[in-house]
Order: sequence, then structure tokens, then C-alpha cells
Amino acid sequence: MRALRMVDLVTQYEKLKPEIDRAVLGVMEAAAFINGPEVQSFQKELEGYMDVEHVIPCANGTDALQIAMMALDLQPGDEVITASFTYIATAEVIALLRLKPVLVEVDPHSFLIDPEAVRKAITPRTRAIVPVHLFGQCAPMDELLSIAHEHGLFVIEDTAQAIGCTHRGAEGARRAGTIGHIGCTSFFPSKNLGCFGDGGALFTRDAALADRIRRIANHGQSQRYYHDDIGVNSRLDSIQAAILRIKLRHLDTYTQARQAAAARYDAAFSGHSGIEIPARVHWSDHVFHQYTLKLTPGVRDGLQAHLNTLGIPSMVYYPVPVHLQKAYVQADAGDRFRNTEQLCAQVISLPMHTELDDEQLDFIIDSTLQYLNQSTPA
Ligand SMILES: *Cc1c(COP(=O)(O)O)cnc(C)c1O
Repeated sequence: MRALRMVDLVTQYEKLKPEIDRAVLGVMEAAAFINGPEVQSFQKELEGYMDVEHVIPCANGTDALQIAMMALDLQPGDEVITASFTYIATAEVIALLRLKPVLVEVDPHSFLIDPEAVRKAITPRTRAIVPVHLFGQCAPMDELLSIAHEHGLFVIEDTAQAIGCTHRGAEGARRAGTIGHIGCTSFFPSKNLGCFGDGGALFTRDAALADRIRRIANHGQSQRYYHDDIGVNSRLDSIQAAILRIKLRHLDTYTQARQAAAARYDAAFSGHSGIEIPARVHWSDHVFHQYTLKLTPGVRDGLQAHLNTLGIPSMVYYPVPVHLQKAYVQADAGDRFRNTEQLCAQVISLPMHTELDDEQLDFIIDSTLQYLNQSTPA
């Protein structure tokens, strides 16, 4: 059996090696490293795939979120609502810009931001909502958009974990990241569309906003050496773009491979009294950036140790919610985050990637069930 990894980028690369090596060498031979033709082509191809008017590539997903908030002209003290159960980057850029992160609860089954909690968190200073399409499934965008509309708020989608996912809502079928005012994604190597380093992009349908985003990502520059805005230096480099062009062509096949692995996990785990399989929401596909189980209290850490002794990697996304992180601790949290705190204690993510075969999946499944059946009643 091939070695188990949370994400098997080695095997994936082996299959694409001739194509990728040729593309990377091509960039080196042309020496067009920054904003070269590969970046332009990738932008166009991703616009086509996403069915969105404007893709603006940038250096990473965290920058994408920061640039989005700068482009919407959010000001110090403005409140931005996001989920406490997320990767830190979402809240980090809010705080970095001296905006106020207002953290809210998630649904205990889908792990997605709870629209009722968002509604309750709105104050006269609220300017934006940042839904996170966590683990590969869209947040409840129709409800969030109607709340945003009612209160005049911006919606910035964090779609770092959900590229390739489709949302089916009031506006019809749309790609995750093209539903709100701005979508932000990451091409970190382990994401569903990953490059061989750092990369990211922003999506918008609004031409004026796209211009402003493009300017801010490039030192606020309107033409060379003329700076209309305070900006940042955040570019996708040509080597990464060349790799992403190739991998974009495989993205739908990769998504299907993830969904097939998830279906095999589901079939084995559903109905087990100690395991809650990942809930599917009716308004979204699930592209399984992570396959995350919720276990009965008290067994997670033992299972993880057991899997580890068998050479099966697993991860806890996320062990500590944002509202309990030292830099972000919210003194008045009370029991507002009961679901989030339970999830942090009870979830485990199993290997999920594009290269899992049935032998590997069955070994992970059997080892998991073997442990849980001796520590919880089946
Ligand atoms: C990965 C990730 C980011 C940040 O992306 P980087 O490219 O690593 O900066 C932001 N939000 C979420 C939810 C992520 O998973």
C-alpha cells in the first residue's frame, strides 16, 4: 500500500510531471517571472471556469482577504462579522486593518456560520460579513445575502477551501466565491486547487471594484509610478500561474475523486452511533477540502493516537476556536460558542485528497471502526 498522507501531492505531481516540468521550464526560459503571459492566461481561464467577470490573482489567500477589505474602504473601528470556527487568516486580516472582528457561532452539523448568530451580532457599526465555505461546502449564502441587503453590508466570501464548489440559490447556480461582493481564495499547495508555493485570487462581478482591487494589489498604482491608493505588493508569480493552468484543467476530476473518497467513508461510517458523518446542505455541493467526522465526546484524542500508531495521519481542524486564541480572546463569550467549542473537542479530519485508492480508504475505515467499536457501543 502506498504511504498514507493527509494530502498526497507527491503522487499527484508524478502523474502531471512531464506537463508541469515543461511549463515551469518555459517560464524560466522566457524569464517573464512577474505578471508574465502565464499569469494573464491563468486569469482568463479561471474567469471562464468560475463564470465571473473579474479574477485578480494575488500572492496568497490571506492577502486576498486583506485586499478585499481595503478595496471596500472599511475603516478602523468598523465591525466585520465572521465565524469563530475557521482558520485564523479570516479573523487576522480584520484585526490587522484595525477593524473589529465580531466572531459568531456555527451550525453544529454543517460547521458553517449560523445566520441567526450573524443577525444577532449586527450593530450600527457593522460593515461586512465574511462567510467561510468551510471544508468545501458553501455557507448559507441566500440567508446571509438577504441579511446583508437588509442592513447595507458587504459580503466577502472566504472560499479558500471551496474552489470548484457550486452554490444553488436564489440567483441560480453559481461558483462559490462569485456570490457576494468579493470572493477570496488561496492556492496554497494543499488546497483543492494548489500551486507549488503561495498564491491566491479575488473574484468580483463589479468592474469598478475589480479596478480598485487590481490597483491595491499593486502598490495602489494607477499607472507606473502614480499611486492613487495605499496598496500592498501582492502578486501571483508566473511559475505558480503556469502550474495552476495545468491543475485547473484537472480540478473537476480532482473534485470527483474527493467526492468518491467521501462517499466510501460515508457508507462505512453512517449509522454508527459514535460517529456523525459530515452533513450536506441542500444549497451547495461539497468539494471535500476536508472530510471531517464529529465523534462522541471523549474519544477523539484516543482515536487519533491509535491511527497514528498505524501510520494513518489525521488532523484536528481546528483545536482552538478564534474566540479563545490569545490574540483574539473575547471576554464576553459566555456560552455563545457552545457548538464551536464542542466541535473543537470532537472533530477529526481523515486523509482526503485526489489520490486515495480503495485499499487505503478501507485500511483507514477499518482502523477507525476497530478503535471506536471497542471504546463506544456500536
Ligand atoms: C488557507 C486559508 C486561508 C489563507 O490562505 P493562505 O493562502 O494560506 O494565505 C484563509 N482562509 C481559509 C478558510 C483557509 O483555509
